Amino acid sequence: MKAKKLLLSLLLIILVMGSACKIKGKEPQKFEAEFIGLFDTLTQVMGYAETQEDFTATVQALKDDLEVYHQLYDIYAGYPGLTNLKTVNEEAGQGPVKVDQKIIDLLLYSRESYQLTGGRANVALGPVTQIWHRYRSQGMDDPAEARLPKKERLEEAALHTSIDDLIINEEEGTVEFKDPLMRLDVGAVAKGYAVEQAARAAEERGVDHLLISVGGNVRAIGARNDQGDLWRVGIENPDYSVTDYLAVVKIQGMSVVTSGVYERFYVVDGKAYHHIIDPDTLFPEDRYLSVSIVTPDSGLADVLSTALFNLDLEAGKNLIASLDQTEALWCMPDGSLVESDGFADLLVDLN
Ligand code: ADP
Ligand code: MG
Repeated sequence: MKAKKLLLSLLLIILVMGSACKIKGKEPQKFEAEFIGLFDTLTQVMGYAETQEDFTATVQALKDDLEVYHQLYDIYAGYPGLTNLKTVNEEAGQGPVKVDQKIIDLLLYSRESYQLTGGRANVALGPVTQIWHRYRSQGMDDPAEARLPKKERLEEAALHTSIDDLIINEEEGTVEFKDPLMRLDVGAVAKGYAVEQAARAAEERGVDHLLISVGGNVRAIGARNDQGDLWRVGIENPDYSVTDYLAVVKIQGMSVVTSGVYERFYVVDGKAYHHIIDPDTLFPEDRYLSVSIVTPDSGLADVLSTALFNLDLEAGKNLIASLDQTEALWCMPDGSLVESDGFADLLVDLN
């Protein structure tokens, strides 16, 4: 009896304290932060917090997490004392390389993605994408001398792009290439996967409203506020001469990712060549100007936005229809839009 009374009065104190805090507590204000460099792009974070300090702490923790993923998943730069994917590309052809669990997790995820997309997103395509990367960089530096890689050279490289040659030993925590000439290119998946992991870590720290955009790879944590107002995310128009968005979607706890021909391309003889390589033709194809995905998991959104570029419309629609809570928007070469079945429900009416 006594114990019950004590418990009741304790509860009451807690309730009173709770409401007092509410009355005294400040109304959450909107804050934004930006930083450059992570995943070689601009990161923007938006959210509501009671104080600038609270928001800064949230952003700093997120940034620290993203930095770790950025360094581990970098295939172009090395970092002193760190075994990252650049190291793996240099050494895994000669034998197993011990790596951080975050690398194992990314590669397991990449392998699943390969299965899911029927190989349209293949992280083992490195030997081919490296050639394109080199020609694109040279072409951008010196547009008058821009050239296309030779088909035979691409075909030769494509002999070394089998995902089955990626040996992931989970027990040992090692990665090895059975084919010494295979190379990883995680450009289609790493950013989205990292954003997803960093967002989940933030959620575990108690963050319940935040919008993260890493170079347009958007992931929402919860809704905009406790009232459940949705985040609004604009999808960039591939046509830079037009300022309005292709579409604006309203989301909570979801990710929005777009791959577009306008992001990275170079021009040879008046024709633009973008950065997503069709594993069948070994060339960038002109199926779409952009493909946008809305789905809860940012890693999946990234994978699908790339993979759908390499699928004709019907196959892409079928893949999207087979996945829960997943929608897509295709921008066709003539600028017209094609929506997956449920996409309209996400749209903000702009009129
Ligand atoms: P972004 O880096 O603009 O977000 P994507 O997510 O669409 O672009 O990924 C494109 C990158 O993925 C390319 O720059 C290249 O590194 C790599 N890539 C290109 N084609 C493929 C493919 N078929 N499968 C896997 N990765 C690819
Ligand atoms: Mg992608």
